[in-house]
Amino acid sequence: MHFMYTSTRNTDEKATASQAILKGLAQNGGLFVPEQIPVLDIDVDTLAQMTYQETAYAVMSRFFTDFTEEELKSCIANAYDSKFDTQEIAPLVRARDAWYLELFHGPTIAFKDMALSILPHLLITAAKKNQVKNEIVILTATSGDTGKAALAGFADVPGTKIIVFYPKDGVSPIQEKQMVTQKGDNTFVVGIKGNFDQAQSGVKQMFSNASLAKEMDMAGYQFSSANSINIGRLVPQIVYYVYAYAKLYAKGEIQKGEKINAVVPTGNFGNILAAFYAKHMGIPIAKLICASNENKVLCDFFTTGTYDKNREFILTSSPSMDILISSNLERLIYRIAGNDAVQNAAYMKSLLTQGSYAITPEMKDRLSDFYGNFADEGETAQFIQSLYQETGYVLDTHTAVAASVYQKYKADTKDTDTKSVIVSTASPFKFTRSVMEAIDKGAYHAMADFDLADELAKIAKVKIPQAIEDIRSAEVRHKTVCEPDEMERVVRAFLNIS
Ligand SMILES: *Cc1c(COP(=O)(O)O)cnc(C)c1O
Repeated sequence: MHFMYTSTRNTDEKATASQAILKGLAQNGGLFVPEQIPVLDIDVDTLAQMTYQETAYAVMSRFFTDFTEEELKSCIANAYDSKFDTQEIAPLVRARDAWYLELFHGPTIAFKDMALSILPHLLITAAKKNQVKNEIVILTATSGDTGKAALAGFADVPGTKIIVFYPKDGVSPIQEKQMVTQKGDNTFVVGIKGNFDQAQSGVKQMFSNASLAKEMDMAGYQFSSANSINIGRLVPQIVYYVYAYAKLYAKGEIQKGEKINAVVPTGNFGNILAAFYAKHMGIPIAKLICASNENKVLCDFFTTGTYDKNREFILTSSPSMDILISSNLERLIYRIAGNDAVQNAAYMKSLLTQGSYAITPEMKDRLSDFYGNFADEGETAQFIQSLYQETGYVLDTHTAVAASVYQKYKADTKDTDTKSVIVSTASPFKFTRSVMEAIDKGAYHAMADFDLADELAKIAKVKIPQAIEDIRSAEVRHKTVCEPDEMERVVRAFLNIS
């Protein structure tokens, strides 16, 4: 018997891991969730000796049971290789009062690489396993980092095409340059005149459009998703929480069974949901600290029990967290509703039609694993500056939101003893302008983007990442821009279906 996945909106819909990865999204907009969270029955002394790749196998083999050992190990070996600039893959760095788990050592220097370097391999293996004949079209909305990481993962992968939509005015200059210079004959990048939520909604609509699916099938295509709603992205993200815990133990920083906090800069709720799954696999995690920027819909949700996206969408210096509809939260809602798909579907309908929903007091009680707060633009910049002044360590804006929220958490709860891991989701080189202006606006305001990167390398005493060198002089290959309501037309044109 294989471990099965079910839809958050219909428990009759079931899929094996490979089927769930292929589909991306369940029918009627539901998300696939594991029927139960498997326990990681491996002693921490054993985990402490494992490489990243071995840890990945230990975690993924418990979720993806219809992949053979050979298949899974080959996916892992192809993903976590020299594309990463350190053999540790996800190093832990101590600065001031916390450990920073650096998840930006992959090819596109943001944490999306942790999952998107393996997703193409999982997907191709899943397609073979399920005798899929169609070409797979990866359709993705991005708030900046997913897009590039997915493009890098899928470029020139036989049997796939990839289409990425990003908010034209809602990503950093480096993020945009990374995407529009993407090589590969199967890649297509489109800016939309709207925000991330509009891009994500447009993509979800295409996924649930049955007549489009039929026309695609006739033309030899089918959609899949590289967004964080795909369990093929979620499960690989559990790995680094297990790895970080085991490494802290190996360093002698924590005792066996000692709990740690995980502080996660959050947007679509994928990363922190992976931490939640890690906790329920048995990793001793005390609090899951959910950090928002000024788009603090999640912070308000954890405080009040009401999710309300009816508010102004704010463009911040942490664009990958500029999100008002956090898709992966649905998986948590389903769980705290007691795995009740009917109730969850009603909440999601209310979100769609009213823009909000309120959970019951019993459900809110089940959120005690979480602490939510936010940092505004000033606090974020201030944190980057002060940590740099004190330690020389330079954070990116997203990580700084988390680190700033961690200070608030400590002040609020007086929990200053629990060792805390702050998830560092991007290299400061990806958000150079915001980072450098946080450090010294007067000195850096007038400098050009790539000069700022050189300057950052100097003051942080680190080498400029290859990802930045690669785009310095790269040619812009993607120039399509469209309105949010033209997304389907653009996809049809790219695939040559009318
Ligand atoms: C995507 C992203 C986030 C948010 O992660 P979610 O899983 O969507 O919550 C935070 N920081 C950076 C740099 C990102 O790219």
